[in-house]
Amino acid sequence: MILIRNLGANGDTDPGGWREYELVVPGMKRLTFRHKRSDGLAVCLRKAATAVCLQEAADAIDVAIGDSISDDCGNTWSATCLECGRKSMHVVRPGKVQCAYCG
Ligand SMILES: [Zn+2]
Repeated sequence: MILIRNLGANGDTDPGGWREYELVVPGMKRLTFRHKRSDGLAVCLRKAATAVCLQEAADAIDVAIGDSISDDCGNTWSATCLECGRKSMHVVRPGKVQCAYCG
């Protein structure tokens, strides 16, 4: 199942205004993107697809420069934590990684 969730108004009271969205795709790390609600669903879906493409490109770069970890089940991730910036990511179980410091 693919999940796209509006994370809220972030202080913006405009109903058609900018929001942050979470995108959860099985086998991928959680992604976020910003979308202006008044632009409609098609634009929202395009931004979600772009977020996936950008993440896949970033993952390919990580593999190319040797900054990746794998669960040996076909999934790879950056070895560097996006939150703390440390090279501290490790495989918890197939399909899931986490930072040794951030959890
Ligand atoms: Zn971290």
